[in-house]
Amino acid sequence: MNADSPYAILFEPVKIGPVTARNRFYQVPHCNGMGRGFPTEMAVMRGIKAEGGWAVVATEQCDIHPTTELRSQIRLWDDRDIPYLARMTEQVHKFDSLAAIEFVHMGYYGSNLESREPLMAPSGRPGYQTIPAYARTMDKQDIRDVRRWHKAAALRAKRAGFDIMIVYAGHNLSLAMHFMSPRLNQRTDEYGGSMENRARLFRELIEETKDAVGDTCGVTVRMAVDELMGERGIMGEREGSEVVEMLAELPDLWDVNCSDWKNDSITSRFSEEGFQESYIDFVKGLTSKPVAGVGRYTSPDRMVSLIKRGVLDMIGAARPSIADPFLPRKIEEGRIEDIRECIGCNNCVASNNKDVPILCTQNPTQGEEWRRGWHPETIAPKDSDDTVLVVGAGAAGLEAARALGQRGYDVTLAEASTTLGGRVARESTLPGLSAWGRVRDYRAYQISQMATVETYFDSAVDAAGVLEAGCSLVALATGAHWRRDGVGRAIDDPVPGLESLAVYSPDDVMAGAEITGPVVVYDDDHFYMGGVVAEALRNQGLEVAIVTPDPVVSSFTEFTLEQSRIQKQLLKAGVGIVALHNLVELDSGGATVACVYTGKTRKLEAASVVMVTTMEPVDGLYHTLVARQNEWADHGVRRIVRIGDCLAPGTIAAAVWSGHRFARELGHPPGDEFPYRREAMALSPDY
Ligand code: ADP
Ligand code: SF4
Repeated sequence: MNADSPYAILFEPVKIGPVTARNRFYQVPHCNGMGRGFPTEMAVMRGIKAEGGWAVVATEQCDIHPTTELRSQIRLWDDRDIPYLARMTEQVHKFDSLAAIEFVHMGYYGSNLESREPLMAPSGRPGYQTIPAYARTMDKQDIRDVRRWHKAAALRAKRAGFDIMIVYAGHNLSLAMHFMSPRLNQRTDEYGGSMENRARLFRELIEETKDAVGDTCGVTVRMAVDELMGERGIMGEREGSEVVEMLAELPDLWDVNCSDWKNDSITSRFSEEGFQESYIDFVKGLTSKPVAGVGRYTSPDRMVSLIKRGVLDMIGAARPSIADPFLPRKIEEGRIEDIRECIGCNNCVASNNKDVPILCTQNPTQGEEWRRGWHPETIAPKDSDDTVLVVGAGAAGLEAARALGQRGYDVTLAEASTTLGGRVARESTLPGLSAWGRVRDYRAYQISQMATVETYFDSAVDAAGVLEAGCSLVALATGAHWRRDGVGRAIDDPVPGLESLAVYSPDDVMAGAEITGPVVVYDDDHFYMGGVVAEALRNQGLEVAIVTPDPVVSSFTEFTLEQSRIQKQLLKAGVGIVALHNLVELDSGGATVACVYTGKTRKLEAASVVMVTTMEPVDGLYHTLVARQNEWADHGVRRIVRIGDCLAPGTIAAAVWSGHRFARELGHPPGDEFPYRREAMALSPDY
């Protein structure tokens, strides 16, 4: 990198004990829903981050023993686990990056539903997961066992080729942290009481890892220095600073953050870039070792400022590295406008929490790197003379046009309105969702740089327009709209009385409809839309009640780690929450709702109702064109497909992915063959 670049400081090497990171970019451990179930996919995904310039690439948490397991994380239980992790280190080393592994024993946080081993805790207590299991108090032998397993895992990790061993005390899911916690450790022996005692296990794990592998490997820590729960939890001015001060020079690097996961990976709806800085900025003053930290950093200027102000030595990132695995390389090459910035939506987190390989709203190649061979930065050049008409410039249409343009195809992008972005443009006007506009902004800029993509605004295309456009391939990305009649999961037929008062959909709210209160928002969608529409209407000063058949509002946002924040925000704003009720009928006075269990009804006064129940495709154009299929050949049209919400309404992530898939597979749609590579598990010979 040019030494005069304002970003040169980000590319200085950082010494981490006996190893050296080639720059300051540190992909911190992050879950990916792949774990041991999809080892090659995981290895290739990590390797691509190394290729993209992350000097350190870490695994997710690695379970060290059968007494600790939850979901499909990686494991180092015995030597049989070494080969699949070695595959990851091979991939990372191909690009001269350092491979790091994060060891965990989860104590009371695990489920152990697979291994059926009893849970353990510093002091006996109910297990963290909502299962009927109670962790026993660990005795001295248990503590010695955990130390032994941890050391054995480090030795195996070294054989697997890892360069950095991370001793983990974060996110309320590691025993080392549980011992330090004021609420979880009530022991009276040398592992309880004073801070020195409560940090004893953490110290021992660091020391023993150094003894085992510290001659050739960096031994670092990942520690939550604040739990954001006041007196009950670890606090920066108390445990956080005391432990950092006590163990200041022991690890080779301090990676520090807030706990638990929902406080660490806050969505953009509830936090800005850099939200963790004020919680961790004391750490560098207490140690001479390098310090890493996260905060959904995507701005290179912000990163430089963090280094220059002495807050961090390494820029940690999980989500920004998922949204753009090539973020460091783009900064190094001065291609700042090309950065695909994370939008902070946590759909990646949700897929991990659903136990499937993670996807990403911004990066449709996430999780497809090996199985479909999709690289985030490269794509096959065009291999046909096709020209392509994309109708609709929402999430799907923009991504299809962008990726087709990257392949070198001539693309006509026709948009009915005067703006790009479709639902992304609309939804990013809702409270807290402005960062979602990045889905549009990244693609709009890329397309603006492409000579072969022509965008036409104010161009509502009909069937004749499609046929006369003269393109051989057509992708209809005309989106979806929300129904207004209440039909959805819980209601099969239009709600009686729809004509008796003003009924709206989220589309109307986003279009700025003048809605009078009181308003009932009926949410049978359960993701973000119901809650955020209620919030938007309340912000207009209207009296608002949100009705949902679920026990809590926006229940799916449990998976994006937002549910409790959403419920709290609505309650604080004065939105009435009517949970466990269905909408029964409307009349001029309001809405009748019924308890989902007893059927007992009650009346809610309302002048308006907003239905957040079902999206249905805007696919009339497609069906008209199918009816005129006999005319296609005369117009040189070879194929017409639907993509995004026009094909199947869903998330923005799914629409982007659909547009990307169309561009990748153009001319080569998968036949009846299985559409992606699968990793077949080897059958055990002991049978
Ligand atoms: P998706 O999420 O699938 O991309 P969006 O709702 O975000 O769907 O975007 C659909 C886009 O298609 C909107 O910008 C809309 O204005 C545009 N559109 C819908 N019908 C037509 C049409 N007949 N011609 C041109 N553009 C259209
Ligand atoms: Fe960021 Fe959303 Fe992608 Fe996760 S899914 S990395 S939060 S853009």
